[in-house]
Amino acid sequence: MSNLLIKGGTVVNGSDLVVADVLIEDGQVIELGPQLGQPGGCESLDATGCYVMSGLVDLHCHMREPGFEESETIETAARAGARGGYTCLVAMPNTVPAIDSPQMVEMIRQKADRAVVDVQVAGAITQGRKGECLAEIYEMAKAGVRIFTDDGAGVQDSRLMLNALRYSVVGDLVMAQHCEEASLATGGHINDGVISSQLGISSIPREAEETMAYRDVLLAKKTGARLHLLHVSTSNTLDIVRQARAWGVKVTCEVTPHHLLLSEDDVVTLNPDMKVNPPLRTLDDCRKLALGLLDGTIDAVATDHAPHHIDNKTQPFEDCAFGMTGLETAFGVIFTLLTRGTVSGKSKILEPINEREAIGLVHTTMSMNPAKIAGVSNQQGGPLRCGALANVLVVDPRASWVVDRTKLSSKSKNTPFDRLELFGKVIHTISKGRLVVKDGELL
Ligand SMILES: [Zn+2]
Repeated sequence: MSNLLIKGGTVVNGSDLVVADVLIEDGQVIELGPQLGQPGGCESLDATGCYVMSGLVDLHCHMREPGFEESETIETAARAGARGGYTCLVAMPNTVPAIDSPQMVEMIRQKADRAVVDVQVAGAITQGRKGECLAEIYEMAKAGVRIFTDDGAGVQDSRLMLNALRYSVVGDLVMAQHCEEASLATGGHINDGVISSQLGISSIPREAEETMAYRDVLLAKKTGARLHLLHVSTSNTLDIVRQARAWGVKVTCEVTPHHLLLSEDDVVTLNPDMKVNPPLRTLDDCRKLALGLLDGTIDAVATDHAPHHIDNKTQPFEDCAFGMTGLETAFGVIFTLLTRGTVSGKSKILEPINEREAIGLVHTTMSMNPAKIAGVSNQQGGPLRCGALANVLVVDPRASWVVDRTKLSSKSKNTPFDRLELFGKVIHTISKGRLVVKDGELL
């Protein structure tokens, strides 16, 4: 653990911004205020012109271990996360074997103990993620698991999903759905629309997502359960969320940076790094998702970090795996989008907002809200105040950088943002009181 004095930054707690030094000792924030003196043995970090806030929390991270260690491990994902400003990652259970028992949860936790940032485990809803019978939800919940999902696939059987939601009410758990109606989606590679027709590639209609989102909202309404919709990709799904809230349904949802910035137009060249599930939709969807982020319909930005070994991304488009990496680019993409309306070379997505509003929205949707949804708001997500655990991020809003896939820390390089210029850079990441990223580099 490091004793640290972060000097001269602007501390962000939601929309509340105040210039203050932050003193960290023994893993905790122990003092905040102007012009704090530097105690002996304490390392000083200059944060002039920077924002200081609670570290980012990712609700949706594929760490690939066990089963796909050639693509990523818990250790390498955590390092990539730290470099991207994350101090907490929720590990998805679509590993091999799947995380569907308390024994598997324990195994992941043991590996995660050595990771540079906090790793929370999501459990599978069904045994082996096969969608046939419920996993040991109660036992995993007793072991402290808070979020359950079969991500990678949706739970197709409505009766099974209803039962899972009933279970979750008892334990105050969150059921997170990858909304995809298999009978509509199976065999598809890109969004169903003009581009898929032009290219003659089999497609995934938006209704594959929307029908399951609507079904689950109705089931959550019936049961009073907490439902989280993963990686929302269409404007209609957002309308379903709005309707659900009007009904009083406890629903939250997330959007990824790639579904905000990229559209099916980016798939025209059949770049395998643009292949993702749910697929990139239309520019109109991007713009409506952005409005949903600004108006609070969308609770969280999540990466859906999905690293793939190069062998899975160098085949013909139809044979390539779905997924993109995202941990190291998420902050830059979102901050650039919010403050500039797009990223250079891409279509305009939204009317830019000012830097202070943008950083407040980043804090709310990438740190505070995801920490609440993940059930870790006692340790993550702020507010930064005396006594808070020192999971802290320092970002420079003025620094620009060009994404270079070869320099990313993730074991896999399948980013769709390669060579884009981003504004807003992670400078320091402090996880559990320890400085793990300094001046943008892992220690
Ligand atoms: Zn998914």
